[in-house]
Amino acid sequence: MFDSVEKLPTWHKDAECQRHYDPDLWWYDYPLPSQPDERAETILRVSVALEYCSACPVRKECLAEGLKTDNLHAGSIWGGMLFSDRRRMLGKRANDRYYNERWLKAGLNRLSRRRNSGV
Ligand code: SF4
Repeated sequence: MFDSVEKLPTWHKDAECQRHYDPDLWWYDYPLPSQPDERAETILRVSVALEYCSACPVRKECLAEGLKTDNLHAGSIWGGMLFSDRRRMLGKRANDRYYNERWLKAGLNRLSRRRNSGV
């Protein structure tokens, strides 16, 4: 998330993602994978990251950081939000990257429905 240790904000020490053994979960592939099995893995990894975000005590602070232009990277999760969600919050128009993310959101929704139905 941050380029160097010197730039870390104080809230960073309480971030759930910093305690996780695989901090790369909070970055997903761009360009997006074209192979179905790779896509499925990306959807699963992003869903795990979003679950951690939902329980993170510094989610608000993280989202504020993730809305800064410098952190508006495609393929990054900040404050429990994907790139396209953060763009939308900022009132930015959809672009190609936004459209590319639709399959990811559709996959996350399918996964969530499956989990909720206990399948
Ligand atoms: S909200 Fe998510 S990305 Fe942000 S610090 Fe917490 S776990 Fe990390």
